[in-house]
Amino acid sequence: MELRGKNIVVVGMARTGIATARFLLDRGARVTVSEAKPAAQLPAEALALAQQGVLLETGGHRMETLRGAGLIVVSPGVPLDIAPLRAADKSGIEIISEIELAYRFLQTPLIAVTGTNGKTTTTSLLGELFQHAGKKVFVGGNIGTPLIAYVSGTQDRDFVIAEISSFQLEGIKVFRPFISVLLNITEDHLDRYQSFAEYGDAKGRIFLNQTGEDFAVLNYDDPQVRALDPAIRAQKVFFSTRQPLPDGISYNGALHVRLRGEDEHITIAGALLAGIHNVENMMAAAAVGFVCGLSLQSMQQALVRFSGLKHRMELVDEISGITFYNDSKATNVGAVVKSLESLPAPIVLIAGGKDKGGSYAPLQSLLRQKVKLLVLLGEARERMRAELGGEVETVMTASLDEAVRTAFSRSEAGDMVLFSPACSSFDMFTSYEHRGACFKELVSALKQ
Ligand code: ADP
Repeated sequence: MELRGKNIVVVGMARTGIATARFLLDRGARVTVSEAKPAAQLPAEALALAQQGVLLETGGHRMETLRGAGLIVVSPGVPLDIAPLRAADKSGIEIISEIELAYRFLQTPLIAVTGTNGKTTTTSLLGELFQHAGKKVFVGGNIGTPLIAYVSGTQDRDFVIAEISSFQLEGIKVFRPFISVLLNITEDHLDRYQSFAEYGDAKGRIFLNQTGEDFAVLNYDDPQVRALDPAIRAQKVFFSTRQPLPDGISYNGALHVRLRGEDEHITIAGALLAGIHNVENMMAAAAVGFVCGLSLQSMQQALVRFSGLKHRMELVDEISGITFYNDSKATNVGAVVKSLESLPAPIVLIAGGKDKGGSYAPLQSLLRQKVKLLVLLGEARERMRAELGGEVETVMTASLDEAVRTAFSRSEAGDMVLFSPACSSFDMFTSYEHRGACFKELVSALKQ
């Protein structure tokens, strides 16, 4: 792809937009970066781009800027359906996402992981698996370092392992991982997508350009994932925690690998990752490792010792026999379902935050079975009470502080207090990390 002299507009100036602008500049393109936020809210790094010859447009995207582009590259946080982008699309201007641009310059085999939940855990776990097996890997994409930053360098790794979001997949054209992993599809981001079907279609695009030479790792237990099966041309490797698969990976206390004539077990007894959803993540990672020829013994060692990531079913403390879990990253209902399935009753569930427009009903039966008290907070609390309050005793609170104190005072030894919001954090916090850190501080204050 020739970039020299081309007039390229990068939309969005966060970490990925900045890295994209630098990459394009290095290759001799004429670069404009267009950002909705005013200049005063941008990091110094973004403003420094102006000194290097990048034109900056801040405080909104002007139609003329986008219409004048030879190519538009969109950052992951920017919806493709905003008016200026739709207008540019109508005028026939090519619009691609940053992962598409990066892919066109990528020279390393690409493993891509998507799904509603478990992307970051599985991507990080894969990084550990490959490193433990002595492979050199780049781990990034939607987490950590963007893909475009990798292709800006020497590309000296054996594999690229990338977390990919549905937003990024909307803007692909030839993007083709040699292994695509789809963990699950449950309701999320209905504030951005018109319908659940449209969101599912975006996830399915990870297989769009794969051929029979590539691989698709798929969750057999997820009906939305299975529905995509007929359209996938890649060689399929299924995994299931619910039933033995004649060809694939199943779970019978150990991971049972039946692939290409092999019939082996990977013991995961003593694994630090807890919960059935993490068994799914381990199976997906093992499937990828198998395809790439990692030894089962090496994978077993790495799977068992991976301790998981902060804010995902993170064990915070035990106070007076009550165990506290921080699951602030559970920003949708599907993640909370798995967390409730993974913990023993009785559970006091603290939930609520910024509403994303989906249904809370999938929580109803688990609330009845396992939860003794539901403590609600945040913007979504009224709608959550309307959908869930009939299942279990429900208390409304005005702050996370009040929620934590209420949960503690209503718990007794042997109970689990689980903070798993089912909502995003932006009503009261700057991010899920900020929200989780506040929760942990409030829990430790209970001891004083
Ligand atoms: P993502 O990057 O897709 O948001 P994370 O690994 O950060 O995924 O986990 C987000 C939330 O989803 C956490 O609450 C975590 O406990 C839960 N989770 C992790 N893996 C899965 C899975 N395979 N299925 C459902 N929920 C999961």
